[in-house]
Amino acid sequence: MARFRMYPTSEQAGIMLEHCAHARYVWNLAVEQHAHWMPGRRSAPGFAEQCRQLTEARRDNEWLAAGNADVQQQALKDFAKAKSARFTSGFGEPTWRRKYRHEGFRVIGTDRVPEYEADGSPKLNVKTGKQVLGRSVVVQKLNRRWAQVKVPGCGWVRFRLSAKGKGAKLPHAKTFRVTFRNGQWHIAFAVIPGPTPAPGTGEVIGIDRGVTITAALSDGRKLNCPQLTVRERAQIRKHERRAARAPKGSARKTSAYAKVAQLKAREADRRKDWCEKTSTLLARTYDVIRFEKLNIKNMTRSAKGTVEQPGKSVAQKSGLNRSILAQGWGLLRQRTEHKAPGRVEDVPAPYTSLRCSACGWIEKKSRKSQADFACVSCGFTCNADTNAATNIAAGQGGIPRPRCSAGAGGATAATGRSSAREPQPTWVGIPLF
Ligand SMILES: [Zn+2]
Repeated sequence: MARFRMYPTSEQAGIMLEHCAHARYVWNLAVEQHAHWMPGRRSAPGFAEQCRQLTEARRDNEWLAAGNADVQQQALKDFAKAKSARFTSGFGEPTWRRKYRHEGFRVIGTDRVPEYEADGSPKLNVKTGKQVLGRSVVVQKLNRRWAQVKVPGCGWVRFRLSAKGKGAKLPHAKTFRVTFRNGQWHIAFAVIPGPTPAPGTGEVIGIDRGVTITAALSDGRKLNCPQLTVRERAQIRKHERRAARAPKGSARKTSAYAKVAQLKAREADRRKDWCEKTSTLLARTYDVIRFEKLNIKNMTRSAKGTVEQPGKSVAQKSGLNRSILAQGWGLLRQRTEHKAPGRVEDVPAPYTSLRCSACGWIEKKSRKSQADFACVSCGFTCNADTNAATNIAAGQGGIPRPRCSAGAGGATAATGRSSAREPQPTWVGIPLF
């Protein structure tokens, strides 16, 4: 994906917002049609049928007819794609798009270019025998830093070539998507870059993801995801306070919330940028990359409980959840997998932090504090995160050793609970009666 910041004129921005509204309207209609379906009813209309319905709707509806037909049709195409990929995309069923939150539209290229097969021979139409003409986006480079793209109804819209090194090359894509979030326009060209080649050194790296250190590598390096500064956090609190005190529906309230959103977007941008850079680094320098298997969704579950059984330390848990999500653990794993397909492995997480990477002994008491690890069996000392990362690199989480077989002369009876047991959740049984 090649994504750039777009700088439309205010006139162009107005037209593009209108495109967003049309695309959202059409998308939501499609969601509605499919939500209406239930067993026993006729199947909801597919893409071709929806396109016919769109033509009819454009005839009856003046507002819709004033918009761009291609933009509206592409929204249907997006919906069809999202619908067919709902089991594999990770996003599930396509859902409602909301104003201000999901502003965007797709544009299909207007240029026609001959298509070629993978081996370089012209791609021929099976029926006519003529060469197939594919779509291509119309892009023009202005100088080293700026380029422009044709957007229907707006003419040329400028965007900034931000990626260093890649700046020299314009992306070749069939379509692109324009998005508007937090006052910023972005353009993303639909190109899937090839995987990053492996260095071929056979090196294996283990990565331990944590809250204090975002990613501890087994070679001793510690990488940290940039967070908001203390000052920025204070500003968020200030604007939230102002928004809370402003009267309902006032301009002051809206602008204070907009400032909060802007600061939060900055945090997300920083996190994304860090994940991209780190995943590229990992894919380039190591042959096999091992992560511990985390179920982030379960880890960040709320501690709120129910009215009958209220949870404990709800605020602390929600704070921890926020800092877990601020680390971008999932995104780092996902982007590394994209860049190094087949070279990313998951290691079972239990005991990776309690196992000694030198002798393999698993003992809770070895973990002296958040940062220090000192094996009670062999005396090996190490940073706790590096120790865990080394275990992950070795593919070792493992099971605690049977304690009753220790010692020279036969079995020793286990005394109480093994100290190697990690804290377990309390299970609530299913009532039988
Ligand atoms: Zn040890």
